[in-house]
Amino acid sequence: MNETAIVWFRNDLRLTDHEPLMRALRNRPNHLVLVYCIDPQQFEKTGLCGFPKTGPHRARFLIESLESLRNQLQSLGNDLFVTIGRPEEVLPDLASQVRASRILFHEEATDEEIRVERAVTNATKDRAIALEPYWGSTLFHRDDLPFEVDRLPNVFTQFRIRCEQATKVRSPLSRPTQLPPPPPGLQFRRLPELKELGIVDPPEDSRAVMRFHGGEPAATARLDAWFWREDRLRNYKLTRNGLLGADYSSKFSPWLSLGCISPRTIAAEVARYEETRVRNDSTYWLVFELMWRDYFRFLALQAGNSLFARNGPAGVSKTWSTDRGALQRWIDGRTGIPFVDANMRELKSTGFMSNRGRQNVASFLAKDLNIDWRFGAEWFESQLIDYDVCANWGNWSYVAGVGNDPRQDRRFNVVKQAHDYDPRGEYVRTWLPELALVPDPYVHEPWRRSDANRLPLDFGEDGLSDYPPPMIGIDRFDPGSSSRHLAEKDGRKRK
Ligand SMILES: Cc1cc2nc3c(=O)[nH]c(=O)nc-3n(C[C@H](O)[C@H](O)[C@H](O)COP(=O)(O)OP(=O)(O)OC[C@H]3O[C@@H](n4cnc5c(N)ncnc54)[C@H](O)[C@@H]3O)c2cc1C
Repeated sequence: MNETAIVWFRNDLRLTDHEPLMRALRNRPNHLVLVYCIDPQQFEKTGLCGFPKTGPHRARFLIESLESLRNQLQSLGNDLFVTIGRPEEVLPDLASQVRASRILFHEEATDEEIRVERAVTNATKDRAIALEPYWGSTLFHRDDLPFEVDRLPNVFTQFRIRCEQATKVRSPLSRPTQLPPPPPGLQFRRLPELKELGIVDPPEDSRAVMRFHGGEPAATARLDAWFWREDRLRNYKLTRNGLLGADYSSKFSPWLSLGCISPRTIAAEVARYEETRVRNDSTYWLVFELMWRDYFRFLALQAGNSLFARNGPAGVSKTWSTDRGALQRWIDGRTGIPFVDANMRELKSTGFMSNRGRQNVASFLAKDLNIDWRFGAEWFESQLIDYDVCANWGNWSYVAGVGNDPRQDRRFNVVKQAHDYDPRGEYVRTWLPELALVPDPYVHEPWRRSDANRLPLDFGEDGLSDYPPPMIGIDRFDPGSSSRHLAEKDGRKRK
């Protein structure tokens, strides 16, 4: 029989550990169409604040990832069919055109994406095309969880312990070495340029933690360098709260978000590293963080649209401010709190921010400014190069106190955090040139400089005329009101 199968690529732009692709090949189809739809919906505006849904750093990373996937597929005898259009419109027509009998794809976890899957199903149901969804974005397979997703524990630690006790991470699937050709006559178009998507190429910033290149080979190269060549995994637990440079953490997140590498592939490499180099708290901690990623993904399945609602998955009713002027100061890094501003400027300029930074700026917006946490989540959605709908909205709801956090009243004292994690002010000076000349003791609290000198608050000193005074009462930052990330509390030692 002359079979043509379609593999619909989504947030899984890789060849290794790709179940839909391997399943398609198992039937030895005569022809294979590998398709990616650039969905115009992803380039519209966010619902509440009207930010561009996909900012320039992520858009560039996506195009690079597609380019890289296309090159790999070409070297195996096929190609990537890329088109701008809604999957529910593109796929049924394409399936008719090439007489495909199957469409295989990876499932997603959130409403917008699930709705696209349903629309594709509806649009193909009268055409004798089998749709084959597979789960493949997490470390623990959904079918291997020791509980139904509806009964996901509402605290991460319980989830982690139960999974560690009962669930084995599946081995990653190997990559194909050859592919059947596309059907004759299928026209492959060039990839769109950023400007065709309404995006201006982002300028390079030499202060960026690193230049993230999209695609599976770049992901593998990062893993090789960070695990093996530079041996950074060995000390990850000690360095992971860093703020500057490429090495304090893995920086896998952009590749994980677009699926250029799978969490199972990373876990398998951790196991190999543990066998051949060292097994310690740091190697465990990387897998621990991947479990957080899983947790938020399964939470999205369980919580549905409450993940995006003001009251969050926990249904906590609070009064939030919608002050757009204050929001804009936060976005622009002009709050007058150097640690917040440095992180926000890094995000805007590079599309990346450390985990420590993310927790602090999110806490500041939701807990100090009391601004609707969803505004912040939308800004992150727009700007992050590693935007992952589940990780972003899950973490935001968690920090805002409306998510799955057993201590919903936690608030970060952002000034204390700044002293703890940036003791010499190197990070804030990197992003806030206005503070270059401010002496170390005052760099996180420039307002104190005037107090100490018993002068009226004078922001004309030390170049501070360009830097705003704090936008909220500084008594909030008196010592003794900081909290730590739950993960710190969950500091279980290795079995
Ligand atoms: C408010 C807020 C928003 C966030 N938004 C996103 C997002 O959109 N996309 C995203 O990938 N991460 C998000 N995170 C989680 C975390 O900040 C990033 O995953 C991490 O900073 C990426 O850097 P890394 O790859 O070097 O991480 P590493 O420390 O090297 O960790 C390895 C991997 O574990 C996963 N991971 C680590 N921490 C978390 C976490 N708290 N939640 C979920 N997964 C985690 C990531 O996939 C990460 O790549 C957010 C955190 C906060 C507090």
